Amino acid sequence: MFKWVYFFGEGKAEGNGTQKELLGGKGAGLAEMTNLGIPVPPGFTITTDVCTYYYANGQAYPPELKDQVGKSLAEVERIMGRKFGDPANPLLFSVRSGARASMPGMMDTVLNLGLNDATVVGLAKATGNERFAWDSYRRFVAMYGDVVLGLKPEKKTDDDPFDVLLDQVKHETGAKYDTDLTTGDLKKLVRLFKEEIKKRLGVQFPEEVHEQLWGAIGAVFGSWMNDRAIAYRKLYDIPGDWGTAVNVQTMVFGNRGETSGTGVGFTRDPALGDNRMTGEFLINAQGEDVVAGIRTPRPIAQLESILPEAFGQLVTIQNRLESHFRDMQDFEFTIEDKKLWMLQTRTGKRHPFAAARMAVDMETEGLITEKEAVLRPDADGIAAFLSPIFDQTAKAAAVREGRIIAKGLPAGPGGASGRVTFNAADAEAWANKGEKVLLVRKFTSPEDIRGMNAAQGILTAMGGMTSHAALVARQMGKVCIVGCGELDIDYEKAQMVVGDKVVKEGDWLSIDGFTAEVILGQLPTRPSEVVQVLSGELNAEDSRNYQQFTKLMNWADKHRKIQVWTNADTPGQAEMAVKLGAEGIGLCRTEHMFFEGERIHYVRRMILSETKEDREKALAYLFPMQKEDFAGIFKAMNGRPVTVRLLDPPLHEFLPSREALKPEVFEEKVKAVAEELKVSPAEIEARIEALHENNPMLGHRGCRLGVTYPEIYEMQIKAIVEAACDVAAAGIPVRPEIMIPIVATHQEMKIFADMTRRIADEVIAKARAKRKVHYLVGTMIELPRACVVADQIAKYAEFFSFGTNDLTQTTCGISRDDVRGFLGEYVNREIYGNDPFQRIDREGVGELMKMAVKKGRKARRKIQIGICGEHGGEPNSVEFCHQIGLNYVSCSPFRVPVARLAAAQAALKG
Ligand code: PEP
Ligand code: MG
Repeated sequence: MFKWVYFFGEGKAEGNGTQKELLGGKGAGLAEMTNLGIPVPPGFTITTDVCTYYYANGQAYPPELKDQVGKSLAEVERIMGRKFGDPANPLLFSVRSGARASMPGMMDTVLNLGLNDATVVGLAKATGNERFAWDSYRRFVAMYGDVVLGLKPEKKTDDDPFDVLLDQVKHETGAKYDTDLTTGDLKKLVRLFKEEIKKRLGVQFPEEVHEQLWGAIGAVFGSWMNDRAIAYRKLYDIPGDWGTAVNVQTMVFGNRGETSGTGVGFTRDPALGDNRMTGEFLINAQGEDVVAGIRTPRPIAQLESILPEAFGQLVTIQNRLESHFRDMQDFEFTIEDKKLWMLQTRTGKRHPFAAARMAVDMETEGLITEKEAVLRPDADGIAAFLSPIFDQTAKAAAVREGRIIAKGLPAGPGGASGRVTFNAADAEAWANKGEKVLLVRKFTSPEDIRGMNAAQGILTAMGGMTSHAALVARQMGKVCIVGCGELDIDYEKAQMVVGDKVVKEGDWLSIDGFTAEVILGQLPTRPSEVVQVLSGELNAEDSRNYQQFTKLMNWADKHRKIQVWTNADTPGQAEMAVKLGAEGIGLCRTEHMFFEGERIHYVRRMILSETKEDREKALAYLFPMQKEDFAGIFKAMNGRPVTVRLLDPPLHEFLPSREALKPEVFEEKVKAVAEELKVSPAEIEARIEALHENNPMLGHRGCRLGVTYPEIYEMQIKAIVEAACDVAAAGIPVRPEIMIPIVATHQEMKIFADMTRRIADEVIAKARAKRKVHYLVGTMIELPRACVVADQIAKYAEFFSFGTNDLTQTTCGISRDDVRGFLGEYVNREIYGNDPFQRIDREGVGELMKMAVKKGRKARRKIQIGICGEHGGEPNSVEFCHQIGLNYVSCSPFRVPVARLAAAQAALKG
């Protein structure tokens, strides 16, 4: 017969710790603890198979279930010497959910099940504590009424109906805490609760204990599909078909007086990773009191002086659990009249920062192997080592004071505080005066780059995780929140309205890039220790964080197969990236250099030029500046490959935008540019008009600019190669790689390969350097057509670099700048499993990438292939790149450690 129910008790369980899939995390933990001889109240687990069956069969149970539950229940009764529903000495149960992966607080629980008007009297007699019996009963009626019968607040703003009654009785009797209520008060509450259930739901609270039990089991299975649980699964990639188990377990009571209590703990510190037991407890309380926050629990260490024996036992058990499970455990316990019972153990959730530190410690302690240590931490979380941090006490105070005013998407981790500025020029000017500023914009564009760099952090109302603000912020290692729709920004009034709060220019604001929370006022921050060591402000020997970080990174490098490069536009970024382990530059976006200093002036002159000669004159001014930029980067990279992409964005991005600006601001900017260039505003407007495109992302950009204005690309190629020759002449090795954007056809590639070779070979010949400069010319793969004809393109291209931002945009036909309206819903409804701009869409974009790799390698066996879209720093995408055999991934400097770890994990997973 198929087994749906697994018993545990008296030192022996039918299941064990390996059966998480079948028994859920909690059930497997209870079984394993029972088998280890740890004190666990007896009970049984109804498997996740039942949940699957339940949903596949119109919410009906397998026919054998009743019988199997009955048998296990009888076994518990035998061990406990008490009977379920016995008015003289009743046995009570807890009924809890337990999925394969823990989903804290997302599903339902019922405690004290088996109480009714008769058994409550028996419980009072058996325990000699009438108040306790009635306290348990009122809790049960409220929980059952809520969870099983569904008596909940009707509106979001309503209070819990049972809490309203509780408060009412407390008020009438003058009780401050729940513990001040007398037996009489509790009896009254039970009556009021039942009346409320009858009045509001039209049903009677069930007195029959088996009816209670099946009601609770059904409610727990039902809660697998509640909104909270669904949302949580979405967030953590937990499949909907896993289902939950239900654990029915003998109740033990922490609310039996001063020698009883209950608590939760971790075998290590889950926030910081230190190896010490942490947690909290309450005396004379039941589990939900600790979580509900009605009473403030006490730190677990204080238990030692109150109940020393139970505490000693707890310390021994938690050590045993950690060494048995070889990972940090999160446990729950109850002490009933000085006797310790363990109610749960599971692998504890931890801050990513703590995860990495713990993994390194555990390897050192010999608890886990080096490979396990590399595999354990979430690769994404390693970025936490690099982010500036908020002082946690100050943050907690801000939460208490209600200063969190909005939430967006966490685009750049860390904490930043500054005075609000609503435009990039102000941000820069204020920062130059020594102010700390936050740049708050509806969205950002390349012209904001200097303001972004000057700001402590960036906050935008619009845009997703690959919006300009997000990718530039990550590249700069800035704290950033994007897509914070609650901000109603008014540039003109220089203020934003958030709910009922008004934030004006100059006000202090803080953003937490870990949690995407926007906080009123200033919070103190500190650079991370790792960054302090890398920038020479702190000695490596004085920073345990740095040592642990480096150890983990070195292990990762031993195992990974794919190289990690970086996207960097300046020598400073390049240097930091190398310190963080970058082995090359996979993308240097030259357009950002065009905004530096007085360059924008010459860029605009070039754009306004009517003739090739005029254009060349303007370019001649830009040439030495570009050359200097490239020389700086080559020096910083010291012989590592440097991939420079020729100009990519459409030219109108360098002129004021009619769409993005208010009419008066637009006029003003046009006037300023006209004055600067000594032409009439009408001329500027005419040029803007002429450059206007309906769909600029698919318009006159990328190598199409090089086709129509070859002199721009010629200038850039010459600047790159001359810089390389100069740096080589100074004895520093160089490896320039010239990259052509938005190539769709092999004809385009041929034009630019020829152009590059013609100019580069001439420059190199002239330079007559001792060591000849070698360069590569290749292309970005950003269009589906380029993937399909990759073999033809590879005849002329020595390398490919997947520009997956554009490749995703063009493959899915979704504009990367216009995803806000629908992509959220698409992901929620699983039309796309994930945001394809964050994680490579393997089925679509990924297949095209595979095709390009295959075709490219067929035509040119040793072609170097990498990726430089934002996906290059996203662990799941890094894994995919490893699997399809790319040579490198390239990502923003502060993502380099993430990619190193993700690449090692991909290699170890095989
Ligand atoms: C890309 O398209 O993936 C890319 C790296 O280029 P950009 O983001 O600058 O368009
Ligand atoms: Mg691109």
